Amino acid sequence: MTKIYNFSAGPAVLPKEVLQQAAAEMLDWHGSGMSVMEMSHRGPEFLSIYRAAEADLRELLSVPANYKILFMQGGGLSQNAVVPMNLVGTAGRTVDFVHTGSWSGKSIKEAARYASVNVAASSQAEHFSRVPAQESWKLSQDAAYVHLCTNETIDGVEYNFTPTVQGDVPLVADMSSHILSRPVDVSKYGLIFGGAQKNIGPAGVTVVIVRDDLLGKALPITPSAFNFQTVADNESMFNTPPTYGIYIAGLVFQWLKKQGGVAAMEKRNIEKAELLYKALDADDFYQNRVAQDSRSRMNIPFYLRDESKNEAFLAGAKARGLLQLKGHKSVGGMRASIYNAMPIEGVQALVDYLNEFAGR
Ligand code: PMP
Repeated sequence: MTKIYNFSAGPAVLPKEVLQQAAAEMLDWHGSGMSVMEMSHRGPEFLSIYRAAEADLRELLSVPANYKILFMQGGGLSQNAVVPMNLVGTAGRTVDFVHTGSWSGKSIKEAARYASVNVAASSQAEHFSRVPAQESWKLSQDAAYVHLCTNETIDGVEYNFTPTVQGDVPLVADMSSHILSRPVDVSKYGLIFGGAQKNIGPAGVTVVIVRDDLLGKALPITPSAFNFQTVADNESMFNTPPTYGIYIAGLVFQWLKKQGGVAAMEKRNIEKAELLYKALDADDFYQNRVAQDSRSRMNIPFYLRDESKNEAFLAGAKARGLLQLKGHKSVGGMRASIYNAMPIEGVQALVDYLNEFAGR
């Protein structure tokens, strides 16, 4: 088989070593005679897998002791409802949003069912080409929390700063598509969530990191399985958790630790992103339309100046083993997602093809 590189936005490439280990352990995990998929979530085997995954994620992100790590289900989109249900305290209370692209847009729409939404800043008029400067945000006095999407997977916009909020208003961040790609000061956030299918593991696992004092405020309509307090009290096992997904996530965390942790990943991610943006910026054959200081290191959308060549570009890419480069249908063009598990060789192969296709 030709070597392939998978640039999908998610579900996305996973480290080969992780898949190889999972394959080797598929039928018999550590002499237990069972596949991880067949184990009771309450048995000692799975509990050891679960607890190691929790501890490794805590170590990787230096999660302080007064935060719970929950492994939930339902994906990033479910958290758009679950977070307001759990954090507004009183239905209809104000929540502040920063609208930076498609995913924060979806969060705003969903939260409006449970909260009164204030869009404190938006880059919609600029076609979501930047994160609005914090000085321009019009935050409410009494918001239950401030919601951000710190990496917009479709628009290719990433925060390069941690916002500061007055008083004790918690910051909530959807980090689905860049969690573990760079160090983050968890203590600056009240809650961080992310679907697993980009930098963590298979779709189905949803990670929530939440500060203790935000638990226990769920609206009465909150389903018990989505009540953070209930989930935390039951070590994410109020209902059967996505056990196999948690196992793979745990292998990814071990892999990340072997790579040197998130600081080492950040270094590599900067190198990979710079390599790709340099090729896109070399002349006007390709275009990335995001302001320099807001460019994502993970998801890099780009357009061909001559869009009639799109199909030929994608066909040529596929022939070279460069897969899933088509942009999201809502914005068109191309997109290269270069998560932690994408090696620099993959980015170099894409850059070589970009140069060849542009006739450079
Ligand atoms: N937020 C972000 C930033 C995303 O990239 C995605 C998925 N691409 C979602 C939320 C939605 O995640 P899910 O499909 O797991 O619900």
